[in-house]
Amino acid sequence: MHRAAFAHAGLAGTYEAVRVPAPELPAALARLREPGVLGANLSLPHKEAALSHLDGLTPAARAIGAVNTVVNRDGRLRGENTDAPGLLAALAEAQAPATGLAVVLGAGGAARAAVWALRSQGREVRVVNRTLARAEALVRDLGGTAQATGDVSWPGVTLLINASSAGLDAPEETPLPDFDFSRLPPDALVYDMVYRPAETRLLREARAAGLRAENGLSMLAHQARLAFLAWTGVDVPVSVFRAAAGGAGGRP
Ligand code: NAP
Repeated sequence: MHRAAFAHAGLAGTYEAVRVPAPELPAALARLREPGVLGANLSLPHKEAALSHLDGLTPAARAIGAVNTVVNRDGRLRGENTDAPGLLAALAEAQAPATGLAVVLGAGGAARAAVWALRSQGREVRVVNRTLARAEALVRDLGGTAQATGDVSWPGVTLLINASSAGLDAPEETPLPDFDFSRLPPDALVYDMVYRPAETRLLREARAAGLRAENGLSMLAHQARLAFLAWTGVDVPVSVFRAAAGGAGGRP
């Protein structure tokens, strides 16, 4: 995605995937301070571990407690979270209902970004997770209500977001086994942050019940657009990122 964006912007930049074992994170981050390095994206398990090694954090990254984008400015590293605004942009693009209860499945870093983003819009949020204690800790930090998977009475729900990793590279895995999607109102949107496979079991079952359902490719493209903007100051159209991600099979 970012190579396509550099080409689109006519900039002579490159983007490399680097595997960093957890103990080597501080050294890897230190290398980002070098001149000529714009920054980096972080993925699991570094999104949370990086916080204490950076010079500054945006308010969103601090509140969420996770950084997916690091920006190098003259040797100082700032941590940002573009997952949160990336999700909001994806939901706006999908014309998700703007009112009503939003149910977020999962309680990891992606769920924290989702809850922070939705709460920043004044949205009522319920966090539903396999491990209730983790959902409770999340809502203590960020607001909303917590529930264990299995209890699926959600009056007024209009938006169901899978922010768990159930379904990732596992087409028949679902965070909601035995869920009756016809219980959701017909205008509800089901959004699965998982984009590989393109159609998870969750999305297939939601569509079979006549609901609108989207995978996480749009969020992936939007968070990338915002990271590229933070690094370069150039706002490349999201379609460039989406085409590159789709063409590459969606692997970040
Ligand atoms: P994480 O911190 O490891 O959290 C994973 C969460 O998923 C935990 O709450 C875990 O529950 C739950 N979970 C895992 N397997 C499950 C299963 N089989 N059934 C039910 N719940 C299960 O991961 P993360 O960073 O938040 O990422 C979550 C997902 O979001 C990943 O698939 C990631 O690829 C995706 N994501 C997509 C984008 C995008 O741009 N589209 C951006 C960020 C993340 P427990 O607490 O019980 O362990």
